[in-house]
Amino acid sequence: MNTQDIIKKSSAGESLSQSELVHLLSVPPDSPDAYSVMAEASRISKEVSQGKAEIHAQFALNLASCPCNCLFCSFAHVNGIFKDEIELSPEQAVAYARQFEEKGANAIFVMTTAKYAFGHFIDMSKEIRQNLKPETTLIANVGDQTPENAKKLKDAGYAGVYHALRLREGSDTGIPPQKRKDSIRTFQEAGLNVGTCVEPVGPEHTNEELAQMIQFTASLNPSYSGAARRIEIPGTKIAERGMINELRMAQIVAVTRLGMPRTVMGNCTHEPCTLGAVAGANLFWAELGANPRDVKARTEDGRGDTIEHCAILFRESGWDVWNGPSRYYQ
Ligand code: SF4
Repeated sequence: MNTQDIIKKSSAGESLSQSELVHLLSVPPDSPDAYSVMAEASRISKEVSQGKAEIHAQFALNLASCPCNCLFCSFAHVNGIFKDEIELSPEQAVAYARQFEEKGANAIFVMTTAKYAFGHFIDMSKEIRQNLKPETTLIANVGDQTPENAKKLKDAGYAGVYHALRLREGSDTGIPPQKRKDSIRTFQEAGLNVGTCVEPVGPEHTNEELAQMIQFTASLNPSYSGAARRIEIPGTKIAERGMINELRMAQIVAVTRLGMPRTVMGNCTHEPCTLGAVAGANLFWAELGANPRDVKARTEDGRGDTIEHCAILFRESGWDVWNGPSRYYQ
């Protein structure tokens, strides 16, 4: 199999087979072939998003020990990182959301742990929604939901959700994979746009697993797909598996772009970095408050990035930044 032939096939708009994706994931990340894939991914991303990247911004309504026990998450009960629960008041939540709006976030994400009471989430969401400009894009990042709850999210003013079938869902997490897949369909049937990602990638994931997940995300025709590496949470069992470097992550971000149909405008990576943007990522996240990749209760004191810094990373990588509500979630 030849990398340049696969790139030509992709540039002709043809979809790639699983074995072709595996080939692209198998070339050394620092090889001319890998850089060719990154260049092509960047070209496609710039073509479909007219050279304008987006910055989305997320905050959490709560910080709590979560019984779903996703091993990579600092909220997982099994990891024992956070003992005390924190819940934002409506005023604090509105202040976070307005801060993001004022800084120019293209979309604002409201996150909770999986067990946050759904009725309370809807009440908080309505409060947030009515304190933002009508055109501001609001996105929910919550646990698996029923069709009734999905409709309530839509009615509360959400344009979409973030939801992913995580790598090794069901073995590295306490959630059955089918439940995640069902929720994604449920959200889409309720009229919510779904953004997703190949995540959280660690060194143990095979190229076959990654290729399968790229194809699964492509099958959803999502608002965006992309790739994010697992961030090591010190002291956790899963940290012993290690972390991939940004260059390998950039390669996976690029291959994901080539594996998506052109109808998918967004290609995300997390955490934000110039290598990811050079390899075709056109979506980064800024974060405030609790963050499942951080051991600090307020990620602004830890790993969380700012909208301003995300914009600098994009500009340093040769991207302009979109000004206005997210196009990916329309
Ligand atoms: S990723 Fe979500 S569902 Fe899993 S442990 Fe963390 S908060 Fe709970």
